[in-house]
Amino acid sequence: MTDQMIVLVTGANKGIGREIAAQLAQLGHTVIIGARSLEQGERTAAELRAAGASVTAVALDVTDPGSVAAAADSITASHGHLDALINNAGISHQPGADIAGQMPATADVDHVRFVFETNVFGVITVTAAFLPLLRRSDSPRIVNVSSSAGSLAAISDFANTDPIALGYVPSKTALTAVTMMYARGLETENILVNAVCPGFVATDLNGHRGHLTPAEGARSAVTMATIPTDGPTGTFTDVDGPVAW
Ligand code: NDP
Repeated sequence: MTDQMIVLVTGANKGIGREIAAQLAQLGHTVIIGARSLEQGERTAAELRAAGASVTAVALDVTDPGSVAAAADSITASHGHLDALINNAGISHQPGADIAGQMPATADVDHVRFVFETNVFGVITVTAAFLPLLRRSDSPRIVNVSSSAGSLAAISDFANTDPIALGYVPSKTALTAVTMMYARGLETENILVNAVCPGFVATDLNGHRGHLTPAEGARSAVTMATIPTDGPTGTFTDVDGPVAW
């Protein structure tokens, strides 16, 4: 068990992120909910505080550098440092766009780019903005919520059964690679950086088709967020252990 931490969870007003926030708060950590809608984030924070937890919310749109910078300033003012950053916010498709734009035969590059803006560039934007705060921690760690759907080892199977999400699947492949680059690049600073797959979880992201609950899906991220200071870095795991890249 790690000492009490200050943790930021992006995209935490619903789904897996909300449960990651709830479980870390139940463990006694101080949790900051990052939410595009501050109103929704504050509502979630109030619900989690009702259980006696220390939870607040900050406005945070990972695709808006101004919003990310303002969130970093706000947390600098309120807490002075950050111990754990959970990059959870993610999308499966561009809202309102034709899903055909994510299929190779009918690809719409703007649709694909839209997904990458959140799932890949958003993570890099947030990580860059919060590294100065993580460097002030005695035990800094980053957890990126990726997906085994992006495993190169699984993509050929995936293609046989599902429409290939040309934005979503490769965005998670890239996110896992980005995670490993950060792990190597921050090794000398003792900042642990790991990727996790939550499993197939029933949330808005997949029209609630998943077979796991958000509470079950949160476990892999909570586990990696609470590893010891001398714990692993550069891993990709789910609740059962290592995930193939
Ligand atoms: P949900 O759609 O339930 O939640 C996604 C969250 O991300 C929401 O809070 C949403 O905010 C937020 N979000 C989206 N775009 C932005 C943005 N630009 N800035 C800030 N927040 C944003 O999905 P899940 O809980 O299922 O997904 C969470 C993570 O888990 C994602 O990264 C997803 O790829 C990953 N994952 C999910 C799996 C599953 O089976 N569900 C499987 C593997 C990985 P808002 O409420 O404002 O829309």
